[in-house]
Amino acid sequence: MNDPKYRHLLTYNQEFMFMEYGLCEIYYKINEHTLYLLKIDQQDHSIKELVIPLNLNLTTIDAILTYFLKELFFKNVFFGEGKLIYEKSEQFSEDYFNSIQKELNDAYRQKIKLIEDAAKNNDLINFCRTIHLHPTPDRIHATNWTAQCLSKGNHHLLLSTVTNEWGCGYCRKKGGLPELKKWYFMQK
Ligand SMILES: [Zn+2]
Repeated sequence: MNDPKYRHLLTYNQEFMFMEYGLCEIYYKINEHTLYLLKIDQQDHSIKELVIPLNLNLTTIDAILTYFLKELFFKNVFFGEGKLIYEKSEQFSEDYFNSIQKELNDAYRQKIKLIEDAAKNNDLINFCRTIHLHPTPDRIHATNWTAQCLSKGNHHLLLSTVTNEWGCGYCRKKGGLPELKKWYFMQK
């Protein structure tokens, strides 16, 4: 079987805090069992190839695009805070690209809201909120949260809503709610 050639899927820019981070080009090719995505990042000059087993849901160009954007969004710090800017594609329009992006962002916000609602009676999270550490759920593992470290250093506390424990590897401190309260009041 002859090897298919890469075709251009999309060129986009990524914007975060009103800064543009440089173009990324995405190429794709499909053979009988596999979808390949090639990501060429012009900002850090990296090239990544994703190899994805082809399934029935991944046979149209729209499905491939949605798949790629989901992968990117759910593993990317830009998600929810930044946005992707359509530069060019011969496969789909800017409107279509933006509609998928909006759908993913809405789904993300919905998910974060459900996670926050589920933790609304969590004393550890609520205490962090009260003392302005800005606890935020992890976008993949809903029960892992981060918050600003109590030391006011430029790093994070890790929190679990399962064990109700927190830790900071940087400050080498950990514990439950009583230990966090103790640390907080010692600083006062
Ligand atoms: Zn710390």
